[in-house]
Amino acid sequence: MGNVISSQQANRPAQEKDFLSDKVEHFTESVIREMTRQATLYGAVNLAQGFPDFAAPEEIKQAARSAIEKDVNQYAITWGAKSLRNAIARQMGVWQGISVDAEKEVTVCCGSTEAMISTLLALCNGGDEVVIFEPFYENYGPDSVLSGARPRFVRLHPPMEENGEWTFDEQELRRAFDRHTKAIILNTPNNPTGKVFTRAELSLIRDLCLEFDVLAITDEIYEHILYDGRKHISMASLDGMRERTVTINGMSKTYSVTGWRVGWAVAPEKITNAIRKVHDFLTVGAPAPLQEAGAAALSLPKAYYAQLAEGYRTRRDRLIPALQAAGFRCFRPRGAYYLMTDISSLGFANDVEFVNYLVKDVGVAAVPGSSFYRRAQDGARQVRFAFCKKPETLDAAAQKLAKLRHG
Ligand code: GLN
Repeated sequence: MGNVISSQQANRPAQEKDFLSDKVEHFTESVIREMTRQATLYGAVNLAQGFPDFAAPEEIKQAARSAIEKDVNQYAITWGAKSLRNAIARQMGVWQGISVDAEKEVTVCCGSTEAMISTLLALCNGGDEVVIFEPFYENYGPDSVLSGARPRFVRLHPPMEENGEWTFDEQELRRAFDRHTKAIILNTPNNPTGKVFTRAELSLIRDLCLEFDVLAITDEIYEHILYDGRKHISMASLDGMRERTVTINGMSKTYSVTGWRVGWAVAPEKITNAIRKVHDFLTVGAPAPLQEAGAAALSLPKAYYAQLAEGYRTRRDRLIPALQAAGFRCFRPRGAYYLMTDISSLGFANDVEFVNYLVKDVGVAAVPGSSFYRRAQDGARQVRFAFCKKPETLDAAAQKLAKLRHG
């Protein structure tokens, strides 16, 4: 799998004592974050890692400055500042009709990344299995290794034509569930495919969770980034799922503050207590003044979210033709801010060779598709571009990409 190494590769001669844990021998550093370093090294336009290169909303920057001025500079309550937990609980009611107890069901973490690993560490024992749709956001691989869980992958198939949807096979999904299954990890809107799971698909997953007595851990960080009339549906809002769902979200993508590291997990009380214990000893707490700014962010008017999505729609529609003109096949995303492409017609041996050429010789950084698959060959024809960038950044990338066709 992208950044997870097989045990064969991990076997080292006994005499080479290196003091490292077996766990870290089973995955590599993130390829996504490595591509950002490569972009800096070669001075390339960075369409690899998913972070905006434009300003965060003034209101929330002001809220952060003001919290620091007011000396909110010491540890917040371990599981999150009350103001932010209240705002999270309130907004889950407003957006998804889910009622949440801010005192008992919310844990604020250092980004949704920490929320996910804390959740898995709190829930998984060695031998437990977690079902993951593939291609998947690369963190879920190492997250599984670190928590001792064994991933079972279910394939998302790309659409036949640009406007189609990524789909999965119902029977394949069913076969991934058995008595060892602890949870399914679901990311909707999805990174890297841009798929927004429909109510029918979520209901199918719900039925399996109930039948096999399994939890859903849902990464909903792109909740507000939706296109073409698609709607986000939280798994916890489906009948029977509130009691068996951990909903993960955060400030990073919705408010363009990926470096602030403020995310959260919402779960029933008993599960929350376990997540809070892990979170406490991993990080103690997320940055206190930025949590106050989070409470302000979650109070922005409805229009903010509509503008956010529309801004990303125009960026998507700017990048797609540029990629198509350069010879990529594009799969139009319905949510999130990534474009998965097929590079078959570009004449390269595989995705890694291609992105290396792209960053060094063309001047654009992207993420090789293999990072999102367990077996590298399954992603060898795919490359992901992030379009959470200023129009001029996308235009600069487009100009460079034109070189692919015209030499
Ligand atoms: N979600 C972002 C991406 O997929 C990166 C997040 C991160 O690097 N923590 O590019």
